[in-house]
Amino acid sequence: MNINKKAYELGSKRSIIREIFEYSKVRAAEIGADKVFDFSLGNPSVEPPKEVSRAIKDLLDNENSTALHGYTSAQGDFTVRKTISDSINDKFGLNLSANDIYMTCGAAASLSICLKAVFNEGDECIVFAPFFTEYRVFVQNAGGTLVVSDPEEKTFQINVEDFESKITPKTKAVIINSPNNPSGVVYTEDTISKVCEILERKQKEYNKVIYLIADEPYRELVYNDINVPYLMNYYNNTLICYSYSKSLSLPGERIGYIAVNPLMIDSKDVYLAVCGAGRSLGYVCAPSMFQKVVMSCINAKVNISAYKENRDLIYNALTEYGFECVKPDGAFYLFVKSPFKNATEFYEKAKQYEILVVPCDDFGVNGYVRIAYCVDNNRIKNSLPAFKALAKDCGLI
Ligand code: PLP
Repeated sequence: MNINKKAYELGSKRSIIREIFEYSKVRAAEIGADKVFDFSLGNPSVEPPKEVSRAIKDLLDNENSTALHGYTSAQGDFTVRKTISDSINDKFGLNLSANDIYMTCGAAASLSICLKAVFNEGDECIVFAPFFTEYRVFVQNAGGTLVVSDPEEKTFQINVEDFESKITPKTKAVIINSPNNPSGVVYTEDTISKVCEILERKQKEYNKVIYLIADEPYRELVYNDINVPYLMNYYNNTLICYSYSKSLSLPGERIGYIAVNPLMIDSKDVYLAVCGAGRSLGYVCAPSMFQKVVMSCINAKVNISAYKENRDLIYNALTEYGFECVKPDGAFYLFVKSPFKNATEFYEKAKQYEILVVPCDDFGVNGYVRIAYCVDNNRIKNSLPAFKALAKDCGLI
């Protein structure tokens, strides 16, 4: 084969989530879409806030179209970056400038860039299980090795002892994703403080910098105003990977940013490495029009109450039927313990009831499935008799 073997393997091995999503389309054509209860994909079901369409119309009507659709600076439009850094400073009491922000095509690009920016061949990256499966791809592509830290049982908070035991002289970065995909867990301030205290200690012990990379597409998606600690306030060597995919329901527009903490060691050099990594990966000049859109919508929010209604409906019903679930404080995922040892067996059993969930072995935790409840509320309501029958079949009721 005269092509890159790794790239070929990645391209030919579809992610399990995509696989299930494709199956759901085929099944819907066979038996009708309303009879298939697809909970596989994390595609927002809540529409973008009104400010988004208003901003798009306004830009189309009033901006010079060649400028609007033209290239911006590689790192993004200055005014957009300034608006974002000012907003971070207002919200979290920090002192970022436009030159600490790099506009990207969502969190996936942000993560790929940050890892590429800081990794040298052989460096290790610690991730906390359960974790977003694409981390494996991004870390490997940056020349690093993925090291998985196991969670606390039942709460799925970070197990700080396990985390400490996984840090070695090769550790270069740690990724924290909170609210978490796939567990819906928000890491507490106490957990975050302990993680950062360990990192400070290990930096001194090994006399090197360990970067904390915050993967934050779900920051705004939390229930009951629960606090999501802003990592720059706990640890200086932090890079934030933010995305508007979920916070403004714009996943198809591919827009987000990286924020480099100006208080980090050699922050200007790290920012330049971010620019260089973006350049080498071809992630320069994020979509111009959507840079301007997110600037206009800097304080806009999606309607979280629709997700909360879904969460309450599915969590209450499934626990009533005897399923063991982690109560999500954020994001739009429910993490359900498989009644069988093997999550794939449970996935297959659920499929018999036309319920499509994602077995989470690839997310670094065995014996769990993920339910993405970012769907129309009626899909959840209509699926409940099927879940009940499934629970009976599994011997839970
Ligand atoms: N990180 C996590 C934890 C995610 O769940 C996702 C998408 O679902 C991403 C990153 C990628 O998001 P984006 O669409 O912004 O690239």
